[in-house]
Formats: sequence, structure tokens, C-alpha cells
Amino acid sequence: MNDDKLNQNVFLSIVSHELKTPLTSISGFTQALQRKISQKINNYRDNPLLSREELEKYSDHLETIMRQINRLDKLMDDLLDSSVIESGNLRYEWDKVNLNILLEQVCEQMQVISPAHQIVLATSKGSSNFITGDENRLEKVFSNLLANAIKYSPHKDAITVDLSEDNDRYIISVEDKGIGIPLEDSDKIFDLYYRGKGVDNKKFSGLGLGLYLCKQIIDTHRGELTFKSEVGKGSIFYVKLPKQT
Ligand code: ADP
Repeated sequence: MNDDKLNQNVFLSIVSHELKTPLTSISGFTQALQRKISQKINNYRDNPLLSREELEKYSDHLETIMRQINRLDKLMDDLLDSSVIESGNLRYEWDKVNLNILLEQVCEQMQVISPAHQIVLATSKGSSNFITGDENRLEKVFSNLLANAIKYSPHKDAITVDLSEDNDRYIISVEDKGIGIPLEDSDKIFDLYYRGKGVDNKKFSGLGLGLYLCKQIIDTHRGELTFKSEVGKGSIFYVKLPKQT
């Protein structure tokens, strides 16, 4: 790695670390306020200072703040991870991972963050499919794919997550009915900092880090990340992971 690249990585990792600390504190206090306000709403008694409507409005504001905090937090994590990947030092912790539980958790989390889009997990409840992997990193992959499916579906169509298998692999798909990916972007969307050519920055913010990170993580699991897409119809991303590592 050349010196410029090295300096850029060190800079990125220091900045994202520094920004994460205040963000954690803002997030903690916002959640505490959210809890307080929803308690007040649940046990509401006429209050000359604050009407129930006012409390509900503040609760909506806090929800918006929390959504933006989560976005910033994810961005910081992605920046941090990409600088670590670039320097070749991203560490993995290998363990037995229950893919079904992991997908349930990620879908649930994303549904809370984005209540406007319906997230459908098509796998049958109670089944267990295990692989050896790094659970946190895989969680990042699925939440990035879902976050993209949500972001690039401005009409708020439903998103479907499924898990199937062939002889030696599990195949997880994340399907949206959003804007789709033009052919000219197809071979570049996994590149670091690449953003779709026709993507309107004002409408769809981002840095072009998510899919790069997903691909690196899936490659390290000796898997495959692919997609099919049609402009105006939607996209489906496939994560294929070996049953045996
Ligand atoms: P970002 O979303 O920040 O631009 P990503 O690396 O996650 O970064 O994605 C790279 C590009 O791939 C995006 O800019 C967009 O053009 C395209 N893309 C990714 N996921 C989707 C999707 N579900 N629907 C349409 N386009 C997508």
C-alpha cells in the first residue's frame, strides 16, 4: 500500500472512531428520553404543561433522531471497516452460526428502523441451518443488503428475504421491487466508493461502501455474492455460503 493510501486509512479510522464516541452518548440519551416519553404517553393523565398530542409529537421527533443516529452509526462502522479491510487487518471470529435466527434478528431490527417497508421473511419459523462463520460480520452483510433494498425502494414496496439450499450451499436472497440496477453499473457496484451512475445523490444518500464490505466478508467466508436486477422492476441479491467450511 502506498503512503497516501496508508495516511488516508489512518485518517479514516481515527475520524470514525472519534465520531462514534459522541454518537454513542447521543444515542443513549435519546433512547432514555424515548423510554420516558412513551411511559408518559402510556400512563397519560391530563397535564396542564403537556398535552398528549404534544407528547406524541415529541415521540415522533425522537424516532426521527434515532433513525438518523442509526444511519450515522452504520456509516461510521462502514468507514471504519473499509479502512481496516484496505489495510488487510479485518479480524474474524469464527463460530457456529444459526442462519435462521440471524436472519430473523436482522429482519426484526430493520423492520423497527424502517416501519414503512414491509419486510417478509419467507423461511419457515423454527428451522435451523448452521454454518461456520463470523456472526457479527454476517449480520452486517444482511443488514447492509436490507438497508439498500429499503433505500432503493422509494415507493415502499415489500422486501422479501428467503433461505434455500442446494447440495453444498445455503442461498440467502434479499429481493426488492425498487429502482433496479442499470447494466452499465453491474460490474462496478462491488467496487469501493462506487455509486450507481444514475443514482440521485439527494434522494439516495450513501458513500458506496456497503456492497464492497459485503463482498469482502462473503469472500472471506468462501461464499459468493451475486445479484439479478431489472431497471424499474427491482433487484435480488444472493448470498451463497458453503455448508461446510
Ligand atoms: P451506496 O448505497 O452507499 O451507494 P453500496 O455499495 O451499498 O453503496 O451500493 C453501490 C451501488 O449499488 C449504489 O450506489 C446503487 O447504485 C447500487 N445498489 C445497491 N443496492 C441496490 C438496490 N437494492 N437497488 C438498486 N440499486 C442498488
